[in-house]
Amino acid sequence: MRLRNKPWAKDKIAAYPQYVIPDPEARRGRWHELFGNDRPIHIEIGTGKGKFITEMAKLHPDVNFIGIELYPSVLVSALDKLIESELPNVRLLNANAKDLTTFFADGEIARIYLNFSDPWPKKRHEKRRLTYRDFLALYDRILSADGDIHLKTDNQSFFEYSLVSLSQYGFVLAAVQLDLHRSDIVGNVMTEYEEKFSAKGNRIYRCEALRPPQQS
Ligand code: SAM
Repeated sequence: MRLRNKPWAKDKIAAYPQYVIPDPEARRGRWHELFGNDRPIHIEIGTGKGKFITEMAKLHPDVNFIGIELYPSVLVSALDKLIESELPNVRLLNANAKDLTTFFADGEIARIYLNFSDPWPKKRHEKRRLTYRDFLALYDRILSADGDIHLKTDNQSFFEYSLVSLSQYGFVLAAVQLDLHRSDIVGNVMTEYEEKFSAKGNRIYRCEALRPPQQS
């Protein structure tokens, strides 16, 4: 993502602790208390400017959503959408996905969305891909027994890599769409990147992967 530096973004984020949670480590294992209900929690990693998560939260008031984004200059746009919509079932974290297990207890999360994750095409950057096995190990820990990952991308190489990485780790591929916008899926909510790249004619790939079955 091309970043436009916004030096004021950190201060704005700090001014809205009710939306961008400043102390996610303190909430570990207690996110349901913050939302005030026992509804499932879905997280989006690399939430960008927040279109997907805010639209999903409007459509699914029975789900709690947490968007995680590394860059304040990007997250501040998602914050603006929250301030405007005042959605009670969304929170944001200005954080790195590598720290997920410090924010969430084992089994606390029902679903992880990975939307148009940076593909990091060079082999030497493989460890940065959000479907690299070290990240999958974090997801495996925080997902509930019947939890899953929903992934979308327009990058064929990253998609193929992710299918292999997920399968090798033990995730079970439950659905694969090789051309999402020409499939019969209903209720697809587009992300900012999805709008941009599908308008250019790029094909959108999607998969759902179930958490590895547990040994009894
Ligand atoms: N999901 C949005 C969409 O589809 O429009 C944004 C896609 S953008 C290509 C990827 C986003 O993931 C960027 O905003 C980037 O800052 C964020 N990101 C990348 N690695 C991350 C990490 N380790 N933790 C949190 N966010 C990350």
